[in-house]
Amino acid sequence: MSLSNKELIERDLRTLWHPCTQMKDHEWLPLVPIKSGKGVWLQDFDGNRYIDAISSWWVNLFGHANPRINQAVKHQLDELEHVLLAGFSHQPAIELAERLIQLAPAGLTRCFYVDNGSSAVEAALKMSFHYWLNCGKPQKTRFVTLQNSYHGETLGALAVGDVALYKETYKPLLMEAITAPSPDCYYRESGESWHDYSLRQFDSMAELLRKQADSVCAVIVEPLVQCAGGMRMYHPVYLSRLRSLCDELDVHLIADEIAVGFGRTGTLFACEQADITPDLMCLSKGLTGGYLPLSLVLAPDKIYQAFYDDYSKLNAFLQSHSYTGNPLGCSAALATLDIFQQDQVIQKNQHLSKKLRDATVHLNDHPHVAEVRQQGMIVAVEMVKNKSARTAYAWQERRGLTVYQHALKNQALLRPLGNVCYLMPPYVINEEEIDHLARVLTEGIDLATKE
Ligand code: PMP
Repeated sequence: MSLSNKELIERDLRTLWHPCTQMKDHEWLPLVPIKSGKGVWLQDFDGNRYIDAISSWWVNLFGHANPRINQAVKHQLDELEHVLLAGFSHQPAIELAERLIQLAPAGLTRCFYVDNGSSAVEAALKMSFHYWLNCGKPQKTRFVTLQNSYHGETLGALAVGDVALYKETYKPLLMEAITAPSPDCYYRESGESWHDYSLRQFDSMAELLRKQADSVCAVIVEPLVQCAGGMRMYHPVYLSRLRSLCDELDVHLIADEIAVGFGRTGTLFACEQADITPDLMCLSKGLTGGYLPLSLVLAPDKIYQAFYDDYSKLNAFLQSHSYTGNPLGCSAALATLDIFQQDQVIQKNQHLSKKLRDATVHLNDHPHVAEVRQQGMIVAVEMVKNKSARTAYAWQERRGLTVYQHALKNQALLRPLGNVCYLMPPYVINEEEIDHLARVLTEGIDLATKE
């Protein structure tokens, strides 16, 4: 007997506890059990189809059930599913590290594997602190973060984030970060360019960092797009200035490219647009094409060498997750890199990125849209109560949820972040599908802002 949505929903709600969800909502908001995926499409147990416009939380790059990635994972499955990475190694981990070091900003020459985004951030924070400790600077214990940033939800990662929704409740448990104003260009004056606004915002960072650099291990940023903070965007000039300042003041720069890496902003890594090499770079999500949980931190030789010593010095870096560098994940990542290379994805995405712009540009004229903004393959549309004053809708009104519900009825998975609707589709989407998404998005925004 074939399963139905209804049966699976009932069974699910008896046993599961879903992430980022007030479970009581599911008394009236139907859960969507997915049976299968193919390309940009997901299909539920009743045969309804949805375009995965948000790449399943920004992980999927080349579609669901991609034949080339499937093939690579199946092959690896018959060779070796997993082995510990301490004292042991395996071919996919070695090959992936070699290839990423080739592709990453110059100077990042060591790959430390972890198994999810938040844990990569934890590893980067600890690595930075521990580096300074090994270098005889134990007073460096603090981290600087940007307003409205997001770096994950484990306690360390949450502490260096700034999105109240995720952070506020757990604040008593968190180390205290130093928060600098964001370069987020949503707040620029009318007529002011992204470049000028981001540059102006840099002044506060410079002032703050000059005062406190002695106690600061690192500044952590999401390069170019603060994704969970509502797809807020800024100019690369901020990153180049920050790079110079961190160099000058002996502070690490951690680039969290977990969401923006692998082509989302139009370049393979967002840091390329500022022509900088961060001290530590965190990668996850698109790393495996959206297949398996895997993450890593790339580091330069200088940091690596500060841990390289006789055992008795007890200087080694200490972080070990069971599934560190899982071979299946690494094989999916290798297949993903093959696709980037063989299909000239970054180049071809320029066309898709233009299509995304053309399909959504009309929303600039919508009476309840403050801004349509874009970086590469990410387009965001900010709904507001009052367009000229840019007054936000109260969060309690849950306007984004109306867009979500409308989209589900119309073959699309959109999942606004509060009042911000966005498209961040897999790169295998076609023009017709983008047009469909833009139509559904526009109708959803009309509905959500009707009164
Ligand atoms: N950093 C950034 C920039 C992210 O967007 C996310 C996930 N949304 C994370 C870290 C955390 O990754 P994970 O969900 O795999 O823990």
